[in-house]
Amino acid sequence: MASLLPLLYFFFFASPSLVNAKSNSTITSINRDLYHSSADLLEQIKALVHRHPDKLTAETIKTGNKGYKAEITVVTYCRSRKETDDRSKFRILLSFGQHGRELITTELAFRILSVLSEEQFLPDVDASSLNNTLDKLIVKVVPMENLNGRKIVEEGDLCERRNGRGVDLNRNWSVDWGKKEKDYDPYEENPGTGPFSEPETQIMRKLALTFDPHIWVNVHSGMEALFMPYDHRNTTPDGVLSERMRSLLSKLNNVHCHKHCMIGSGGGSVGFVLLKTANLFLFRNFIVPSIVSRETPHPLF
Ligand SMILES: [Zn+2]
Repeated sequence: MASLLPLLYFFFFASPSLVNAKSNSTITSINRDLYHSSADLLEQIKALVHRHPDKLTAETIKTGNKGYKAEITVVTYCRSRKETDDRSKFRILLSFGQHGRELITTELAFRILSVLSEEQFLPDVDASSLNNTLDKLIVKVVPMENLNGRKIVEEGDLCERRNGRGVDLNRNWSVDWGKKEKDYDPYEENPGTGPFSEPETQIMRKLALTFDPHIWVNVHSGMEALFMPYDHRNTTPDGVLSERMRSLLSKLNNVHCHKHCMIGSGGGSVGFVLLKTANLFLFRNFIVPSIVSRETPHPLF
């Protein structure tokens, strides 16, 4: 596992906080020197895939219900594309932009894809060592899980985290769905009409179950933390897998984060418990750390 560390955590960078447009009479525009528009970012990612057909493939998955439509682009990386279905390889799923306002995460997705396609390079990383690691991997990247929510942000509602019809995609999963904690915010954390009511969540569930990743890294912004299950309890799981996960996160924190990151269960580390998240659902099948970087004024994930 140690050889995977440079790949998973090299890319965080600071940015100014966004301003809550709702509390101001004028709308604060998004700084385009820092952030692509969603359309431009997805276009650039597709162009990147087009330039590297030997390593990258892309698909756009669409679904909808009750008049609401959603689509998610998924990019698959394999150093030798003909081995994309090789089940002996280590499978990693990286997802970004689950919350519309967390703009920095989708930039990170683009940067990672640029590194994987060898158009950009990591400083102080031995290329042959990195390539030896990458030879063993298949990586699926979801650069922008919540495109409809992102469009609302781009129209001026800079603090919107939910999807295009007001549902928090990180509260729409099945574990403890419908249970409300003391700090429950019905606006921010609207869980939808039922577990997996949202097309975006349905797509992500199907992707996870078919790809069957060894690791899923769900990247958010708002604080500096590396979370592992559980989100709904103030504890972490018992056992060897849990110990490995904690050890991995600790190494990442020491080597790449200047020991700034909080490590532990999502529920324990932030002082409140979270329900219905992707993290919990997936832990039943996979090892699932969550990575949260800094950017937005909201420490919720
Ligand atoms: Zn988030």
